[in-house]
Formats: sequence, structure tokens, C-alpha cells
Amino acid sequence: MTGCSRYHLNMSTNPTTEELLRRYGGAVPRYTSYPTAVQFKGDFRPKTGDIPENAEVSIYVHIPFCRSLCSYCGCLTRVVHDDSPVNNYLAALDEEIGLLGSMTGYSLTAGHIHFGGGSPNLLSGEDIESLINLIDLNFDIRDGAEIAIEADPRQMTAEKARGYALAGVNRVSLGVQDFQRETQLAINRIQPYSQVEACVGWLGDAGIDNINFDLMYGLPCQTEDTIADNVQKAVTLNPSRISVFGYAHVPWMRPHQKILEKYSMPGPLERFRQAQVAREAFLDKGYLGIGMDHFALPGDRLAVAAGNRELRRNFQGYTTDRAKTLIGLGISSISCLPGAFMQNTTSFKVYKEKLSLGDLPVEKGTYLTPEDIMRADVIEQLMCYFTVDAADACRRHGFSEAHLAEDVAYLRQMEQDGIVELDGSVVTITESGRPFVRSVCAAFDSYFEGAQNRHARAV
Ligand code: SF4
Repeated sequence: MTGCSRYHLNMSTNPTTEELLRRYGGAVPRYTSYPTAVQFKGDFRPKTGDIPENAEVSIYVHIPFCRSLCSYCGCLTRVVHDDSPVNNYLAALDEEIGLLGSMTGYSLTAGHIHFGGGSPNLLSGEDIESLINLIDLNFDIRDGAEIAIEADPRQMTAEKARGYALAGVNRVSLGVQDFQRETQLAINRIQPYSQVEACVGWLGDAGIDNINFDLMYGLPCQTEDTIADNVQKAVTLNPSRISVFGYAHVPWMRPHQKILEKYSMPGPLERFRQAQVAREAFLDKGYLGIGMDHFALPGDRLAVAAGNRELRRNFQGYTTDRAKTLIGLGISSISCLPGAFMQNTTSFKVYKEKLSLGDLPVEKGTYLTPEDIMRADVIEQLMCYFTVDAADACRRHGFSEAHLAEDVAYLRQMEQDGIVELDGSVVTITESGRPFVRSVCAAFDSYFEGAQNRHARAV
């Protein structure tokens, strides 16, 4: 059964975009995991013992500090003006790495390491190098591993770029968001084009050519024209990957976002059009569309993985990372272990206290049932490739082929509306239905209740 009972069949044909947005553009998860994080519960005992010996794992390190707060921010971060809270946190992080290394009790190989935040590039090259060395000591970083860091262009320097490259970082994701001054003023994030251009130059000089840009739509003062201009400016700097995220206005979770309500904000139809403008412009410039919101140049590893049907989706979005185990380090980080997700505390105080007692700072999690694992597979295929054979997925996971028949039947309204095509148990999202992929996935989410205050809009 699915919780997607809002898709009542009404036999309408050729609905307008506004009608589609009303029906399918509401609040749904981003499906970077299934079950999603809102299902994690506190009565969860951490377990690391099921990770197979000598398995390749991925590691995510959360650095929850920034120098100022962007008004649109939805991340778990804290504004700091000096380094002492950062250094205290790094000391606790070292303890967590050592504790996890000793608990797994045998050699695991790290194939992907990702520093996210916050603004991980508040850290110096030496800080990043010492974290990487400690991870290597405990998890054995394999040759050729991808080591990526998210970076705020306002905090980059040529020296940091050189330091990160020396530490082994080989991919940098720059938070660009928007190049227009009016929008930058509204979101409290002033970073002229020249600043982003300088970062790209410093990284290239340091030997880091794998550069991602994060861009956004749905922000104050943005229009289709400004989005087109952002794309034009972005491609001039030749990033190998681009993500285009819709601004998630969730003031009930992030009260500081209320300040944006004094500006004119794009409505659902304008947001939809802005996303389309960005998509068409990047495709026109030779980028390949990856999943619902990523773009990559043809030689980029993400594009190659998509072509080989090896694309995956995890908490960082679309990825080439095929490891079955993700170890999350730092406050709020989520680990994906065989049979379970677990999430660290979001409290700095609890994080340090638990580690000082030799305990993992885990706050909540969920054990995965065989049905969760099967549904996660279905949702991941839809998110990555816009098509899935539901009966085949059931069979591969040991369920009867008809197990998801009712969920597929719920998609009849979407079929009528041109969002999906149904061929027996094969669900294929149409080209025009792709902006609504998250709503299609929700039909296979047994936990989804359509709660408007738990997720951001689908479009
Ligand atoms: S730099 Fe990123 S994490 Fe920091 S406040 Fe801005 S949006 Fe949030």
C-alpha cells in the first residue's frame, strides 16, 4: 500500500502546467535515501558490526561552520567569527574517527571521501590534510579515491587551493547559487563573478580540475532572464558538473528564512519555468542531464556512470559512489550501514559529551526491512533513470511480482496526465513528467503521508 491517496483518478486530459503543479508539485521528499530521514527514530542502537570485512566504504565528514548566515540556508551550520569552536570540534571529530576505526575492528578501504557543511573550506589545507591522514590511518584510503570538498567562494584563497590539492583533494564543489547582485543582496551572500572566477583559477593552478557548481532557482528577485544569465556566466567558467537546486522555503524548520518573505519570491509556475530555462540552457551548451537536477560534461565521471547505468543516489545527491556502506562523521551526519541508517546528534554539546565517554554520538536511526530495501531500489531507479520495472524489482528482492501492483495502479492518474507511461509493471516517466519525478517516487513510499510541513516542494 502507498500513502499516495491524493492522486484520485479524474480522467482529465491535457492538463495545464498550473494544474500539474497543483496536483504533483506539493511537498515530497528529495529521496536521497529511503526510508527518508523523517522516519529515523530515537530507540536505535548503533551497529557497525555488519560491515563486511575489507569492504570499500565511503566517508562523509560534516564541518558545520560558516562565517555568516545565508538567508536561504537549510543546512545544519553555526556562524563563527574565530577558530576556537572549530578547533574544539576538530578534536572531537578526531575522537570519532578513531572510535569508529577501532569499532569496525578490521581494515576497511575508503573509496570516496566528501567534506560537506557548512563551509568546510573554513579549514586550512593543514586541517584537511590531518583529517585525511587520520581517516587513512583508520580506513585505508585506496589509490585513486575521490576526495571532494564543498567550498564557499568567499572563503577560498590560492593558498587553501594549494593546500587542499597537496592533501589529496581532487574535486571541489563551489557554492555559486546566483551571480546577480540583487539576489545576492537579498540572500546575504555577496560574491561577484570575479570571485568565483578567481577560485576556479586558483583550483586549476593547484591541479584541481574537477569542479562542480551549485546553482539555485526560486530565490528572491530571480527571473527566467536572470537564470539564463547565470547559466551563461557559469558555462564561461567550464565546471565539469553543475547542480541546480530549487530553493526550499521551510521557515517552520529554519526560522531565519522568514526574512526572505519581504521580497518578491517566484511562485510555483515561475519556479517551474526557471528550472526549465536552466535545464534547456545547460543541455544547449553541451552538458548532459543527470537525474532530475544535475548536469555534467560528457567526459565527467558522473556522465560516464550515467551512461553505464552505474549512477547512484545518496545523501550528497547523484554520485558515482557504488559503496554499500557510507560512514557519516560529525554532527548530524547520516551513516548508511548494511541493514540500517543511523544519524548523529545535531547538538554540539551532546556530540562532545558522548565521544568523551567513548560512545558513538548517534541520536537516531532505522533498521531496514526487506521491503524497505526493495522499495529503495525502485525509488533509486526512478530518481536516476526515470524508469523501473516494478515486478522485476520485486522478483530480485524475493517478493511476488505482483507485490507493487497496487502502487503502480496509483499512477493511473499520472498516466492520464502525461507524467508517466505504464506498460504492465514498467513505469517510465515521460520527458515532460521528469520535473515531477519525486512525486512519482512518493507513490512507492509506504511511509509518505503528504505532510506539507516535513518536506520542500517537488518543483
Ligand atoms: S555558506 Fe552554505 S551552509 Fe553556510 S550559511 Fe550559506 S548556505 Fe548555509
